[in-house]
Amino acid sequence: MGMDLALTEEQRLIVDMVRRFVREEIVPLEAKLDPDADELPLEEFNRLVAMVKEMGLYGLDTPPEWGGPEINLLTRCLIAIECGQHRAGLYAPCYYVFGGARQAQLFEATDEQKEQYLYPMLRGEKKTFFALSEPSGGSDPARAIQTRAVRDGDHWVLSGTKLWISGADRADYGLLFARTGGPGRGGVTAFIIETGWDGFNVRRAVHTLRSAKYATEIELKDLRVPHENMLGEEGGGFSIANDRLMRQRIPYAAECIGIAVKANEMAVEYAKVRETFGAPLSERQGIQWMLVENEIDIRAMKWL
Ligand SMILES: Cc1cc2nc3c(=O)[nH]c(=O)nc-3n(C[C@H](O)[C@H](O)[C@H](O)COP(=O)(O)OP(=O)(O)OC[C@H]3O[C@@H](n4cnc5c(N)ncnc54)[C@H](O)[C@@H]3O)c2cc1C
Repeated sequence: MGMDLALTEEQRLIVDMVRRFVREEIVPLEAKLDPDADELPLEEFNRLVAMVKEMGLYGLDTPPEWGGPEINLLTRCLIAIECGQHRAGLYAPCYYVFGGARQAQLFEATDEQKEQYLYPMLRGEKKTFFALSEPSGGSDPARAIQTRAVRDGDHWVLSGTKLWISGADRADYGLLFARTGGPGRGGVTAFIIETGWDGFNVRRAVHTLRSAKYATEIELKDLRVPHENMLGEEGGGFSIANDRLMRQRIPYAAECIGIAVKANEMAVEYAKVRETFGAPLSERQGIQWMLVENEIDIRAMKWL
């Protein structure tokens, strides 16, 4: 029996709706923004959030029981492909007007932690960061994490450095992973850290190709964290981090497809109008090969 891989009617409608939204709302607005901007002016942000809520798509990655839309992972990826198709699409898809649950681990938090941290984030009142990577490495955090947390009565005292942490300079709080035990996965614990606490310092912005100012380096110097700000169990931090990375990297990969789709579309358009040596670029076989290779890669990526 054959498999039916066609999109459902609902998925097609959602894709059309998001595509129109990106083309009619995000792209024209972006023309007026600084090329490095990764935020919208508040008024525009609020206007577009209201539109997304009207579309029934606000809170991507938020489970339906917490108010997120009833969509499956495939639909989530289809939305991500569309949301990536504008200038800042890779690092700020639709400038976050679709909401989302950037610190999804907080759904597993205690009731007090949810009250203090999760709900304000879901309401869009608090900004957050996620600090796993360190100068010693990001691919293999279980081995690389050197930031230490040592118990001192009702507190934990944290010292160390986190590197490439997105948005920590603008965040109210974040999840940070530190070593409370021995080497390996079982020695890592997650903490909820407020950026206003003594001992928390954003040392510098780390410039990357994504935008002029995005990632940061964080320095922790004897940062005292109340024990109730531990997230999950002592030694359970690695599985908390893993859970987030597994859930969120799939739509993130889909966003990258969106960038490729848009880039190839622009290349095709340009090749048709740009003339050199008396003919449009699109008539040169060398250019055609490149565009066709792109199209093949994009279609193959979509099937993955
Ligand atoms: C713009 C930006 C924003 C970021 N934001 C955040 C953030 O908010 N929070 C956070 O915690 N981190 C963040 N990161 C860090 C990111 O997660 C790490 O850069 C990533 O995990 C890779 O770690 P690394 O750079 O230390 O590379 P390394 O771990 O040193 O790896 C170096 C290279 O070797 C490759 N490699 C590693 N292991 C293997 C293997 N077994 N086989 C083959 N190849 C291998 C890697 O793919 C990589 O190309 C951000 C990074 C960037 C660039």
